[in-house]
Amino acid sequence: MGKPHVLAIPYPAQGHVLPMLELMQCLAKHGFKVTFVNTEFTQERVINALAGKDCIENHIHLISIPDGLKPWEDRNELGKLTEAIFQVMPGKLEELIEKINGSDNDKITCIIADQLLGWALEVAEKMQIKRAAFWPAAAALLALKFSIPALLDDGIINDSGTPTKNQMIQLSPTMPAISTSHLVWACIGDLTTQKIIFELNVRNNRSVQVADWLICNSTYELEPAAFRLFPNILPIGPLLARNRLGNSAGYFWPEDSTCLEWLDQQPANSVIYVAFGSFTVFNQIQFQELALGLEIANRPFLWVVRPDITNKNNDAYLQGFKERVATRGRMVGWAPQQKVLGHPSVACFLSHCGWNSTMEGLSNGIPFLCWPYFADQFLNQNYICEVWKVGLRFNHDESGIIKQEEIKDKVEQLLSNKTIKARALDLKEVATKSVKEGGCSHNNLNNFIEWLKT
Ligand code: UDP
Repeated sequence: MGKPHVLAIPYPAQGHVLPMLELMQCLAKHGFKVTFVNTEFTQERVINALAGKDCIENHIHLISIPDGLKPWEDRNELGKLTEAIFQVMPGKLEELIEKINGSDNDKITCIIADQLLGWALEVAEKMQIKRAAFWPAAAALLALKFSIPALLDDGIINDSGTPTKNQMIQLSPTMPAISTSHLVWACIGDLTTQKIIFELNVRNNRSVQVADWLICNSTYELEPAAFRLFPNILPIGPLLARNRLGNSAGYFWPEDSTCLEWLDQQPANSVIYVAFGSFTVFNQIQFQELALGLEIANRPFLWVVRPDITNKNNDAYLQGFKERVATRGRMVGWAPQQKVLGHPSVACFLSHCGWNSTMEGLSNGIPFLCWPYFADQFLNQNYICEVWKVGLRFNHDESGIIKQEEIKDKVEQLLSNKTIKARALDLKEVATKSVKEGGCSHNNLNNFIEWLKT
């Protein structure tokens, strides 16, 4: 028999590709051969951003298949993308596996698919290949999705997933409460998109039942209630490049690592790190208000201004600002975030509360200022502020804007709050212990690897 050969297929979004590739880097280190299947669109971005850098382990082969959309179509239209994927990718995946198994000595021994791509688990079942689902976000979010039948029975949502009224719900007393308007499928795009995403979730709840394993990028100690509710979800996180002494790979934008040298020159525990992940787009008013808030906060800051973070040319919004803050503000298009958050100069993380960012901030003992936009970010904010108590949320004014004074006030409140910092350091311990020898995530990952080898 040849090497065990894993085929991994992430959902084509930055926050899914990164942790899946991190998991595959671990497997490659354990001697697995890995075929990593991106969509063609994603693959091009990943290869361009790598710019020839050698940070992917040997034995990982990046392969791509079409996502069903034309090259110029907008991948941020999630409803359209979801439907195109469903029509085209299952057939393409099957063809790819047949091709590999027909020509390669190392036939595919297991498929690890993003939980959002339940059809890939069904392809594996049909082709009699063992299979695992990977969930890159909070177990609490998966618990909410698994609770769709109960939410329907209790009349909390209707058949399209739309909340019947705005109310707070909580699956268990120690889990974050969430407003029904923030249920993940109810706060994405327009009503049509919401229905498509809801139906995808219902379908995935069925598909995931054919998975032999369901692993999750989280930690038991951070979400015990969610893991108790659904013991079939096994935490193996936080998946961080530093756990294997490597660098992150799989970025969609080229990283600007000069900000690490800039951080070296800042006083310890002084810098506000500001980043909104890969999706968030600002309108002009809010973008300028954030810039002015950082200016009047009067502290060093490192701000990730993705080239597409506004609908217009970002520079046009920042006239004069860059000069005024030149001595203490740094802006980059894309930062090596895990390294930034591990840098001793960073004092706090102004974040959109994507799950990866949340786990990365927690793993480094960094307190949060929460600025969620959509999808699961509200749930994660509730974990950060109410359950773990390692951050503060912003208030919006009557027109829905977070004003500059609010930003300045919350920065001051957070940085003078010793209790929050102490909690953040405690949770850093918890998250770090879990991925070390003897920790829960470490044990689960080892058991998973042993199973993959059989
Ligand atoms: N990230 C990064 N550099 C940046 C901004 C983000 O490396 O400048 C990474 C971040 O470390 C995280 C991922 O991109 O791993 C974003 O995932 P997350 O779940 O936080 O947010 P999403 O992009 O899915 O909204």
